[in-house]
Amino acid sequence: MQNQFQVRKEMCDIGYRIWLRGYCAGNEGNHSVRIAEDRVLCTPTGVSKGFLTPDQITVVDMDGNQIDQHNPMKRTSEVLLHLQIYKARPDVRAVVHSHPPHATAFAMANIPIPEGIHPEAEVFLGKVPLTAYTTPSYKELGESVVAVMNQDTNSVMLGNHGSVCFDRTLMGAYYKLEILDAYCRILLLTRQLGRINQLTQPEIIELLKVKEKFGLSDQRLACAARGCVGADNEPFLATFEPRTRTVCACGEDGRIEKDPAAMSEGDFESLVQQVTDQIMAGVQS
Ligand SMILES: [Zn+2]
Repeated sequence: MQNQFQVRKEMCDIGYRIWLRGYCAGNEGNHSVRIAEDRVLCTPTGVSKGFLTPDQITVVDMDGNQIDQHNPMKRTSEVLLHLQIYKARPDVRAVVHSHPPHATAFAMANIPIPEGIHPEAEVFLGKVPLTAYTTPSYKELGESVVAVMNQDTNSVMLGNHGSVCFDRTLMGAYYKLEILDAYCRILLLTRQLGRINQLTQPEIIELLKVKEKFGLSDQRLACAARGCVGADNEPFLATFEPRTRTVCACGEDGRIEKDPAAMSEGDFESLVQQVTDQIMAGVQS
Protein backbone atom coordinates (compact mmCIF):
# COMPACT_ATOMS: atom_id res chain seq x y z
CA MET A 1 0.00 0.00 0.00
CA GLN A 2 1.11 3.53 -0.77
CA ASN A 3 2.49 5.50 2.17
CA GLN A 4 -0.38 7.64 3.54
CA PHE A 5 1.74 10.81 3.50
CA GLN A 6 2.48 10.24 -0.20
CA VAL A 7 -1.25 9.92 -0.89
CA ARG A 8 -1.96 13.16 1.00
CA LYS A 9 0.80 14.92 -0.94
CA GLU A 10 -0.55 13.61 -4.25
CA MET A 11 -4.01 14.89 -3.27
CA CYS A 12 -2.50 18.37 -2.76
CA ASP A 13 -0.62 18.19 -6.09
CA ILE A 14 -3.77 17.14 -7.96
CA GLY A 15 -5.75 19.85 -6.14
CA TYR A 16 -3.23 22.43 -7.35
CA ARG A 17 -3.68 21.27 -10.96
CA ILE A 18 -7.48 21.32 -10.62
CA TRP A 19 -7.32 24.91 -9.32
CA LEU A 20 -4.70 26.02 -11.86
CA ARG A 21 -6.74 24.77 -14.80
CA GLY A 22 -9.83 26.53 -13.53
CA TYR A 23 -11.86 23.39 -12.85
CA CYS A 24 -12.77 24.73 -9.39
CA ALA A 25 -13.08 28.37 -8.30
CA GLY A 26 -12.90 29.51 -4.67
CA ASN A 27 -13.48 26.56 -2.36
CA GLU A 28 -15.37 24.50 -4.92
CA GLY A 29 -14.79 20.83 -5.63
CA ASN A 30 -13.43 17.91 -3.67
CA HIS A 31 -11.53 14.70 -4.20
CA SER A 32 -10.85 11.55 -2.23
CA VAL A 33 -8.80 8.36 -2.20
CA ARG A 34 -9.95 5.07 -0.69
CA ILE A 35 -6.95 3.79 1.27
CA ALA A 36 -8.60 0.77 2.97
CA GLU A 37 -11.92 -1.08 3.16
CA ASP A 38 -13.30 1.37 5.72
CA ARG A 39 -11.01 4.40 5.31
CA VAL A 40 -11.13 7.25 2.82
CA LEU A 41 -8.91 10.32 2.68
CA CYS A 42 -10.87 13.36 1.49
CA THR A 43 -10.30 17.06 0.99
CA PRO A 44 -11.60 19.42 3.71
CA THR A 45 -14.44 21.85 3.25
CA GLY A 46 -13.74 25.59 2.93
CA VAL A 47 -10.23 25.35 1.43
CA SER A 48 -9.21 26.15 -2.16
CA LYS A 49 -7.95 23.06 -3.93
CA GLY A 50 -4.98 25.18 -5.03
CA PHE A 51 -3.70 25.75 -1.47
CA LEU A 52 -4.14 22.37 0.23
CA THR A 53 -1.48 21.05 2.62
CA PRO A 54 -1.12 17.33 3.51
CA ASP A 55 -2.13 17.86 7.18
CA GLN A 56 -5.47 19.40 6.09
CA ILE A 57 -6.65 16.21 4.38
CA THR A 58 -9.32 14.53 6.51
CA VAL A 59 -10.00 10.84 7.20
CA VAL A 60 -13.50 9.35 7.12
CA ASP A 61 -15.02 5.86 7.45
CA MET A 62 -17.39 4.44 4.86
CA ASP A 63 -20.38 5.97 6.66
CA GLY A 64 -18.89 9.45 6.33
CA ASN A 65 -17.87 9.87 10.00
CA GLN A 66 -14.69 11.90 10.39
CA ILE A 67 -12.10 9.76 12.16
CA ASP A 68 -9.30 12.30 12.69
CA GLN A 69 -11.02 14.30 15.44
CA HIS A 70 -7.79 16.26 16.14
CA ASN A 71 -7.92 17.77 12.62
CA PRO A 72 -9.25 21.34 12.81
CA MET A 73 -10.44 20.92 9.21
CA LYS A 74 -13.87 19.39 8.55
CA ARG A 75 -14.42 16.85 5.82
CA THR A 76 -16.24 17.99 2.67
CA SER A 77 -20.02 17.64 2.88
CA GLU A 78 -19.86 16.10 -0.61
CA VAL A 79 -18.05 13.02 0.72
CA LEU A 80 -21.40 11.16 0.67
CA LEU A 81 -21.28 11.30 -3.14
CA HIS A 82 -17.77 9.78 -3.08
CA LEU A 83 -18.75 7.04 -0.62
CA GLN A 84 -21.77 5.98 -2.66
CA ILE A 85 -19.54 5.57 -5.73
CA TYR A 86 -16.97 3.53 -3.72
CA LYS A 87 -19.76 1.28 -2.40
CA ALA A 88 -21.24 0.74 -5.86
CA ARG A 89 -17.88 0.12 -7.51
CA PRO A 90 -15.26 -1.55 -5.28
CA ASP A 91 -12.71 -1.24 -8.13
CA VAL A 92 -12.83 2.56 -7.82
CA ARG A 93 -10.14 3.92 -5.47
CA ALA A 94 -10.26 7.66 -6.24
CA VAL A 95 -13.05 10.18 -6.94
CA VAL A 96 -12.70 13.78 -8.21
CA HIS A 97 -15.67 16.15 -8.16
CA SER A 98 -15.21 19.47 -10.01
CA HIS A 99 -16.99 22.20 -11.97
CA PRO A 100 -14.98 22.17 -15.25
CA PRO A 101 -16.45 25.12 -17.20
CA HIS A 102 -16.77 23.63 -20.69
CA ALA A 103 -18.25 20.32 -19.52
CA THR A 104 -20.43 22.02 -16.92
CA ALA A 105 -21.90 24.25 -19.65
CA PHE A 106 -23.48 21.08 -21.10
CA ALA A 107 -24.93 20.18 -17.67
CA MET A 108 -26.33 23.72 -17.33
CA ALA A 109 -28.01 23.42 -20.73
CA ASN A 110 -29.26 19.91 -19.84
CA ILE A 111 -27.47 18.58 -22.94
CA PRO A 112 -25.85 15.13 -22.64
CA ILE A 113 -22.20 14.96 -23.75
CA PRO A 114 -22.46 13.63 -27.33
CA GLU A 115 -20.76 10.36 -28.33
CA GLY A 116 -19.31 8.89 -31.50
CA ILE A 117 -17.43 12.04 -32.49
CA HIS A 118 -13.95 12.08 -30.95
CA PRO A 119 -11.76 8.94 -30.68
CA GLU A 120 -9.94 10.08 -27.50
CA ALA A 121 -13.23 10.72 -25.71
CA GLU A 122 -14.63 7.34 -26.80
CA VAL A 123 -11.60 5.40 -25.60
CA PHE A 124 -10.83 7.22 -22.34
CA LEU A 125 -14.28 8.41 -21.26
CA GLY A 126 -16.84 6.28 -23.07
CA LYS A 127 -20.45 7.11 -22.36
CA VAL A 128 -20.77 10.04 -19.92
CA PRO A 129 -24.26 9.93 -18.38
CA LEU A 130 -26.04 13.10 -17.21
CA THR A 131 -28.11 13.11 -14.01
CA ALA A 132 -31.12 15.28 -13.22
CA TYR A 133 -30.38 18.16 -10.81
CA THR A 134 -30.31 17.33 -7.10
CA THR A 135 -29.27 19.50 -4.16
CA PRO A 136 -25.48 19.39 -3.53
CA SER A 137 -24.35 17.57 -0.35
CA TYR A 138 -27.66 15.64 -0.05
CA LYS A 139 -27.54 11.86 -0.37
CA GLU A 140 -29.78 12.15 -3.46
CA LEU A 141 -26.78 13.49 -5.38
CA GLY A 142 -24.86 10.22 -4.91
CA GLU A 143 -27.98 8.16 -5.54
CA SER A 144 -28.57 9.94 -8.85
CA VAL A 145 -24.99 9.17 -9.93
CA VAL A 146 -25.12 5.51 -8.93
CA ALA A 147 -28.45 5.16 -10.76
CA VAL A 148 -26.92 6.15 -14.14
CA MET A 149 -23.51 4.43 -13.93
CA ASN A 150 -22.48 0.92 -14.94
CA GLN A 151 -19.30 -1.13 -14.55
CA ASP A 152 -17.53 0.81 -17.35
CA THR A 153 -18.55 4.35 -16.35
CA ASN A 154 -15.72 6.63 -15.22
CA SER A 155 -17.31 10.09 -15.58
CA VAL A 156 -20.80 11.41 -14.86
CA MET A 157 -22.20 14.92 -15.42
CA LEU A 158 -24.31 16.27 -12.55
CA GLY A 159 -27.31 18.27 -13.76
CA ASN A 160 -26.85 22.05 -13.29
CA HIS A 161 -23.75 21.37 -11.21
CA GLY A 162 -20.52 19.82 -12.51
CA SER A 163 -18.72 16.53 -13.03
CA VAL A 164 -17.55 13.54 -11.07
CA CYS A 165 -14.74 11.35 -12.41
CA PHE A 166 -13.42 8.17 -10.83
CA ASP A 167 -10.75 5.56 -11.43
CA ARG A 168 -8.42 3.05 -9.81
CA THR A 169 -5.92 5.86 -9.13
CA LEU A 170 -6.19 9.55 -8.30
CA MET A 171 -4.09 10.47 -11.33
CA GLY A 172 -6.40 8.36 -13.51
CA ALA A 173 -9.50 10.15 -12.19
CA TYR A 174 -7.82 13.53 -12.73
CA TYR A 175 -6.93 12.59 -16.34
CA LYS A 176 -10.60 11.78 -16.96
CA LEU A 177 -11.49 15.28 -15.75
CA GLU A 178 -8.91 16.87 -18.08
CA ILE A 179 -10.04 14.81 -21.08
CA LEU A 180 -13.71 15.54 -20.32
CA ASP A 181 -13.26 19.31 -20.25
CA ALA A 182 -10.90 19.34 -23.26
CA TYR A 183 -13.44 17.30 -25.27
CA CYS A 184 -16.27 19.66 -24.33
CA ARG A 185 -14.13 22.68 -25.24
CA ILE A 186 -13.55 21.15 -28.69
CA LEU A 187 -17.29 20.48 -29.05
CA LEU A 188 -18.12 24.10 -28.25
CA LEU A 189 -15.51 25.35 -30.75
CA THR A 190 -16.88 22.96 -33.38
CA ARG A 191 -20.32 24.35 -32.75
CA GLN A 192 -18.98 27.82 -33.55
CA LEU A 193 -17.87 26.50 -36.95
CA GLY A 194 -21.47 25.51 -37.53
CA ARG A 195 -21.28 21.85 -38.47
CA ILE A 196 -20.08 18.57 -37.01
CA ASN A 197 -19.04 15.26 -38.52
CA GLN A 198 -20.18 12.18 -36.61
CA LEU A 199 -18.26 8.91 -36.93
CA THR A 200 -20.03 6.24 -38.94
CA GLN A 201 -21.30 3.08 -37.27
CA PRO A 202 -18.44 0.91 -38.74
CA GLU A 203 -15.91 3.53 -37.55
CA ILE A 204 -17.39 3.47 -34.03
CA ILE A 205 -17.40 -0.35 -33.89
CA GLU A 206 -13.77 -0.41 -35.07
CA LEU A 207 -12.84 2.13 -32.38
CA LEU A 208 -14.58 0.19 -29.60
CA LYS A 209 -12.74 -2.96 -30.71
CA VAL A 210 -9.43 -1.08 -30.46
CA LYS A 211 -10.52 0.09 -27.00
CA GLU A 212 -11.17 -3.51 -25.98
CA LYS A 213 -7.68 -4.45 -27.16
CA PHE A 214 -6.32 -1.78 -24.77
CA GLY A 215 -8.06 -3.71 -21.98
CA LEU A 216 -10.81 -1.09 -21.60
CA SER A 217 -14.20 -2.77 -21.67
CA ASP A 218 -17.14 -0.83 -23.12
CA GLN A 219 -20.65 -2.28 -22.97
CA ARG A 220 -21.60 -0.20 -26.01
CA LEU A 221 -19.64 -2.59 -28.26
CA ALA A 222 -22.50 -5.11 -27.90
CA CYS A 223 -25.13 -2.64 -29.12
CA ALA A 224 -23.10 -0.29 -31.39
CA ALA A 225 -24.34 -2.10 -34.51
CA ARG A 226 -27.88 -1.25 -33.43
CA GLY A 227 -27.04 2.45 -33.10
CA CYS A 228 -26.76 2.83 -29.32
CA VAL A 229 -23.66 5.07 -29.63
CA GLY A 230 -24.94 8.58 -30.27
CA ALA A 231 -28.55 7.76 -29.41
CA ASP A 232 -28.55 10.75 -27.01
CA ASN A 233 -26.76 13.17 -29.40
CA GLU A 234 -29.92 14.90 -30.59
CA PRO A 235 -30.06 17.70 -27.96
CA PHE A 236 -26.49 18.76 -28.91
CA LEU A 237 -27.05 18.38 -32.67
CA ALA A 238 -30.22 20.47 -32.39
CA THR A 239 -28.10 23.47 -31.28
CA PHE A 240 -26.57 23.69 -34.78
CA GLU A 241 -28.16 26.01 -37.31
CA PRO A 242 -29.71 24.22 -40.32
CA ARG A 243 -27.06 23.87 -43.01
CA THR A 244 -27.16 26.29 -45.93
CA ARG A 245 -25.73 24.87 -49.12
CA THR A 246 -23.29 26.76 -51.29
CA VAL A 247 -24.20 26.19 -54.95
CA CYS A 248 -21.25 26.11 -57.31
CA ALA A 249 -21.96 28.03 -60.52
CA CYS A 250 -18.85 26.78 -62.30
CA GLY A 251 -19.27 24.77 -65.52
CA GLU A 252 -17.10 21.74 -66.20
CA ASP A 253 -14.78 23.84 -68.34
CA GLY A 254 -14.45 26.41 -65.55
CA ARG A 255 -16.82 28.82 -67.31
CA ILE A 256 -19.23 30.58 -64.94
CA GLU A 257 -22.74 29.35 -65.68
CA LYS A 258 -25.88 31.10 -64.67
CA ASP A 259 -27.16 29.91 -61.27
CA PRO A 260 -30.91 29.44 -61.82
CA ALA A 261 -31.50 30.61 -58.25
CA ALA A 262 -29.50 33.79 -58.72
CA MET A 263 -31.06 37.08 -59.90
CA SER A 264 -29.85 38.37 -63.27
CA GLU A 265 -28.62 41.93 -63.74
CA GLY A 266 -31.80 42.71 -65.72
CA ASP A 267 -34.01 41.26 -62.95
CA PHE A 268 -32.16 43.36 -60.39
CA GLU A 269 -32.51 46.57 -62.42
CA SER A 270 -36.22 45.93 -62.90
CA LEU A 271 -36.65 45.40 -59.14
CA VAL A 272 -34.82 48.69 -58.40
CA GLN A 273 -37.07 50.45 -60.93
CA GLN A 274 -40.22 49.02 -59.31
CA VAL A 275 -39.15 50.18 -55.83
CA THR A 276 -38.20 53.63 -57.18
CA ASP A 277 -41.59 53.96 -58.94
CA GLN A 278 -43.42 53.06 -55.73
CA ILE A 279 -41.48 55.63 -53.69
CA MET A 280 -42.06 58.34 -56.32
CA ALA A 281 -45.78 57.49 -56.44
CA GLY A 282 -45.89 57.89 -52.66
CA VAL A 283 -44.09 61.27 -52.77
CA GLN A 284 -46.36 62.60 -55.54
CA SER A 285 -49.65 61.59 -53.92
ZN1 LIG B 1 -19.88 20.78 -6.64
